[in-house]
Amino acid sequence: MPPFDVPEGDPFGPHNLPYGVFSLNLPPTPGERTGERTGERTGERTGERTRESSRQRTVGVRLGDHVLDAGAAARALGSPYAELLARPTLNPLLSAGRTAWSDVRRALTAWVTVPAHRETLEPHLHPLSEVTLHLPFEVADYVDFYASENHARNVGQIFRPDAADSLTPNWKHLPIGYHGRSGTVVVSGTEVVRPSGQRKAPTDTAPVFGPSVRLDIEAEVGFVVGAPSAMGTPVPLSTFRDHVFGLCLLNDWSARDIQAWEYVPLGPFLGKSFATSVSAWITPLDALTDARVAPPSRTHPLLPYLDDSDDEPGGYDLRISVAINGHVVSEPPFSTMYWTAAQQLAHMTVNGASLRTGDLYGSGTVSGPTESERGSLLELTWNGRDTLDLPTGKRTFLEDGDEVTLTAWAPGPGGTRVGLGEVKGRITPTA
Ligand code: MN
Repeated sequence: MPPFDVPEGDPFGPHNLPYGVFSLNLPPTPGERTGERTGERTGERTGERTRESSRQRTVGVRLGDHVLDAGAAARALGSPYAELLARPTLNPLLSAGRTAWSDVRRALTAWVTVPAHRETLEPHLHPLSEVTLHLPFEVADYVDFYASENHARNVGQIFRPDAADSLTPNWKHLPIGYHGRSGTVVVSGTEVVRPSGQRKAPTDTAPVFGPSVRLDIEAEVGFVVGAPSAMGTPVPLSTFRDHVFGLCLLNDWSARDIQAWEYVPLGPFLGKSFATSVSAWITPLDALTDARVAPPSRTHPLLPYLDDSDDEPGGYDLRISVAINGHVVSEPPFSTMYWTAAQQLAHMTVNGASLRTGDLYGSGTVSGPTESERGSLLELTWNGRDTLDLPTGKRTFLEDGDEVTLTAWAPGPGGTRVGLGEVKGRITPTA
């Protein structure tokens, strides 16, 4: 499809232009059968086929159901941005900073909307079905937060039913977070092996070891840091958009039984570190201007470094959908998050910790106020007390073979929708 034939109202139209990294699929070699290729893919457990990985990876921009080879397009049009875009990762663009991000986006918008460029660009536009999408950036540090008040209250009621307040005393004063494992952040489509570990129910006399029996999801939004910061210098709320390039959907896979036994007193560890999935497309914050909303009203006074009452709206109106085996089980609204991404960035640098290009931080599970807006099975089944009745069978937690898909959209300019790249993952049996 030529660049200007994207259907009216397509959530990946020229108003969106998310960035990813792709390689062209090789045509099947003589004698190679489809079944063998599928087997090769599932056996590798990385979502990326070996033969295709050997093809050159480069930055792509999604337009409808096509991907534009951004570096090749820049070269063909004689643009100076080929230097940033003809790369196997988004990192050079991420580190280039906010002015460069705006300039490149303005150029891309012109390329895909000005009819005179059509003939030049067409050879560099590939159907999504003919490419493999890769992890779009090198993940530096990974942090995960806990910013939904509904989620935190639900978890508090489930795990601390006798507590006077379902929130911990610090919750309304700082965005709670922990450092996760960046090396196991994987791109959408990568299969997730059921983790094994220790678990011990309160009624058990001793811990046992084995595959997790309470494997869960957490529907989250991930924020991608572009411009770094100096160690010793906190990043204030006001410079959030100078540092954060964009966002993606994120599934923080969680083994609840491993987590429950290990987490006191130092927090999540092996119950989370086995895999975190992110979408293949990073949506630039510049595409989400119309989605900005004020966060919920604050019920407690905030210390000055977190006080955003005089700032521009820090929330984002993202409508998330969670599906298991194609059946929608929840629709968490990101606009209900108590802590904003800017507050999270300010908090995680207030002690002088520096930012690196490629740092990723998760919002925390997104849960709205109603039962159909909960972003984890822990909450949807109230820790296994209730069952979800799916067309593929009853569920409390995930079974082997289950495929979880997160999708989302945000309000765009002129009544359009800005689509976020999906994040998908299927559970395979313990190795
Ligand atoms: Mn999480």
